[in-house]
Amino acid sequence: MSRLDSAIRRLEAQRDCLDRAAGMVTDVPGPVFELGLGNGRTYDHLRASMPDRIIFVFDRHIAAHPDRIPPDDCLFLGDFRETLPAAVDRFRGSVALIHADIGTGDADASRGLARALLPALVLLLAKGGVLVSDQPQVDERLHAEPLPPGVPAGRYFLYRSD
Ligand code: SAM
Repeated sequence: MSRLDSAIRRLEAQRDCLDRAAGMVTDVPGPVFELGLGNGRTYDHLRASMPDRIIFVFDRHIAAHPDRIPPDDCLFLGDFRETLPAAVDRFRGSVALIHADIGTGDADASRGLARALLPALVLLLAKGGVLVSDQPQVDERLHAEPLPPGVPAGRYFLYRSD
């Protein structure tokens, strides 16, 4: 498989998991959290597929195309390790869907970051809310959900909160 094939499959898996997650939370009220704006690709997909949801976006900086930058009142700039725990007071138990696309080329650092964010993620999710993640997570309140057809195990991760 070429690097191009692999990039296409990764993006297809990401899109298919986001679409699956959006379908899983149709009966769960609440906002969406996007962790990792990057160039705004998945933010743009989420706002197109869930036009009635408020989407709050977290990143340490803005590097997206201008038409994919969220409004100021939906943007939390800074390190996830600070901005996410700080959001718990306001959003505890109310977030319908969290997309955590936080990985870098450093697999160990990405897993470490995911572990550090897990306690806040669990507190933020609404009952029945869904975490879509590029990193695996382990918590007794998060239940792994089947991936969409064609998405190989370990490529992306879907969890529902109890
Ligand atoms: N979802 C994006 C897209 O579709 O374009 C790509 C996100 S990219 C893989 C990861 C993003 O997470 C980067 O924009 C990076 O700045 C951000 N990030 C990584 N670690 C972070 C941290 N500790 N705090 C805040 N932002 C972080």
